[in-house]
Amino acid sequence: MELKLYNTLTRKKEVFKSIKKGEAGVYVCGPTIYNYIHIGNLRAYLIADILRRVLKFNNYKIREVMNLTDVDDKTIRDSQKQNKSLKEFTAIYEKGFLEDIKLMNLEMPEVMPKATEHINEMVDIIKKLLDKKIAYKTDDGIYFSIRQFKDYGKLSNINLKKLKTRIGDRVLKDEYDKKNINDFALWKFYTKDDGDVFWNTEIGKGRPGWHIECSAMSMKYLGEHFDIHTGGEDLIFPHHENEIAQSECASEKKFVNYWVHNGWVLVDNKKMSKSLGNFYNLRDIIKKGYSPLDLRYFYLTKNYRQRFNFTWKNLKASKTAYARLKNIISEIKDNECHSAYTPGAQDPKLRNAGANKTYLKEFEKAINNDLDTPKALQVLWKLVRDTNAKGKLNTIEKIDGVLGLNLLKQDKIKIPLKVKNLIKDRENARKNKDWKKADNLRDEIKKSGYIIDDAKDGVRVKRGCFIP
Ligand SMILES: [Zn+2]
Repeated sequence: MELKLYNTLTRKKEVFKSIKKGEAGVYVCGPTIYNYIHIGNLRAYLIADILRRVLKFNNYKIREVMNLTDVDDKTIRDSQKQNKSLKEFTAIYEKGFLEDIKLMNLEMPEVMPKATEHINEMVDIIKKLLDKKIAYKTDDGIYFSIRQFKDYGKLSNINLKKLKTRIGDRVLKDEYDKKNINDFALWKFYTKDDGDVFWNTEIGKGRPGWHIECSAMSMKYLGEHFDIHTGGEDLIFPHHENEIAQSECASEKKFVNYWVHNGWVLVDNKKMSKSLGNFYNLRDIIKKGYSPLDLRYFYLTKNYRQRFNFTWKNLKASKTAYARLKNIISEIKDNECHSAYTPGAQDPKLRNAGANKTYLKEFEKAINNDLDTPKALQVLWKLVRDTNAKGKLNTIEKIDGVLGLNLLKQDKIKIPLKVKNLIKDRENARKNKDWKKADNLRDEIKKSGYIIDDAKDGVRVKRGCFIP
């Protein structure tokens, strides 16, 4: 089945065709590690994770690169405020981000490069642009002349001809908006405000602009022309527009085939901002009694391209729905296990041979249609409620490989005292080398609905088939 993705570059839903057959190269604009990431950023990384899992579901071998921005205006400003070295300061939030990845059940990208470790690659690109006279030097930095690139604006749909900016109008700051469409900084010459953050390079003492960082790291690890680039919609201009300009002028090749952007997260229909106090991160969500996977489920209920309105009330509704879904699935586990039970066949794969083709196909159709997670969740709900469907567990397992909701993972189980005593008796029997008794006790435990595995460090217990 074909995978369709909405491409910001063409403003169309297109069938995904990879450059190399069976392989997909993806670049995800990673976080600026100057704070814990907020729930808006979390959505962008969750969508990148869904895209990654969907590509795998479609049998692509994936190479995902997600950078860490550990030098830019914000990291320098805030490290100085806290009197820490840049490295010391960014290490705190790098650790925080890695925790977030784990908590949200995001798969790790193949490569996570840091900007500060790729200064040479950035300098190389800037040198090329200087040679071609697309970049020019001033007293405060090296700038990219946007009028030298005839396609400037093709991603964000801005029209340079209509702009009032004069040739040579420049913007030094990393972040700016459409009111300031100007030549942008590739390299910033050292000023005393940078403290001890600088590199002595062939193009001068200073530090890179933010935009060049992503061009250098993506092309290093994915080549000058690669398949997919993702990010939040707020990155379309200027960040991604500038990435295209720098990269295509340096390489004289098309930079990226598919641009995938997710919509903003609003809180109570308002833009998140520090002044409104609605700037939440994952730690705030957990503090209020929600699990990261509650949030994951919540985000999947809406199409990724739409703006997402976060409210506590709706998060609560998602938490309830997610818990109900897991409950139903745990009942299915008991039943499927029971109906297909044959002594000796304890391997779950043997118990649930074969997935349900009809449902799997329906799921595939939904998720391959531009990552339609709301529809995919509907298919899942229909499946778990269908009393006649066969092969439910296997199908759920496959679907969960994409949704990443840990649907089959067992929560901590409470073992009844009776079973605990049986386990103790069996341990004693084993100590006395009374193997027959130990085996009988194992059967007894199984009949009570628990399976035990002997491990080096003791006995592991899990819920097994319930035999009446
Ligand atoms: Zn980026």
